[in-house]
Amino acid sequence: MLISICRLCLQKKELCKSHVYPEYMYTNCYNDKHSFIEFNAGKNRFNKTRRKGTYQHLLCSKCEGIIQKYEDYAKSILYGEVKPYIKQNMKQYINRNYEYNKFKLFSLSLLWRASISSHEIFVNAFLGKYEDELRKILLNGRETPVNEFPVYIIQMLIKNELANSVFMEICQSKVKIGGKTIYQFIVDGILFSIGTGSLSIRAFNTEPSVSLHYLRVDVDKLSEVSQFVDVYSKLKNQGKFSEYETYNK
Ligand SMILES: [Zn+2]
Repeated sequence: MLISICRLCLQKKELCKSHVYPEYMYTNCYNDKHSFIEFNAGKNRFNKTRRKGTYQHLLCSKCEGIIQKYEDYAKSILYGEVKPYIKQNMKQYINRNYEYNKFKLFSLSLLWRASISSHEIFVNAFLGKYEDELRKILLNGRETPVNEFPVYIIQMLIKNELANSVFMEICQSKVKIGGKTIYQFIVDGILFSIGTGSLSIRAFNTEPSVSLHYLRVDVDKLSEVSQFVDVYSKLKNQGKFSEYETYNK
């Protein structure tokens, strides 16, 4: 048992031992002899690593419960709908009847937990001043505008199959205009790109994946390392990050 400060509510409590990413996102790895592939985007070549899930004492049981609500909802969407749909149709998934706030909070919780984790694989996830901002958003379940911490999601493919059990360490990209940071990571073959802070809504050409009126999960191939090491440039070339180009301070 470990009594310490819970990172979400900041109370001194008994802390739970939990995954940084939800347990169910490792299920595909457990099917393959408890191993998973992990890419390190910080290097010029990728590393294949076999490793068990990463546990750490971070939250009290009440706060675990808060995060769990977001996780449970995302599980029903990602594993109940997105992955089966893309596996069958091999095309973009769109859901116009989903709970924006719950799904957004889930996406942000992945980044926030990576940021508070002291584990080496999350070393590039340090959020600085945004860490406490996200803590309050998650603790209170606050709904953020689409352009605040915008979230883009792509299901990666390998040889026309879902890139299940593929993980990529968090990497950072700086945008040229405005100097904001984007964090990118792959969890069980799903690429998340999350911008920090607030961006001008006027500048949006393509809405983030997690938008008020729909959830959109794009599909792309994980065929070349360069494609996802420099994911930001690629998204930008596709016009998906065009809001950053016209963003003014
Ligand atoms: Zn707590």
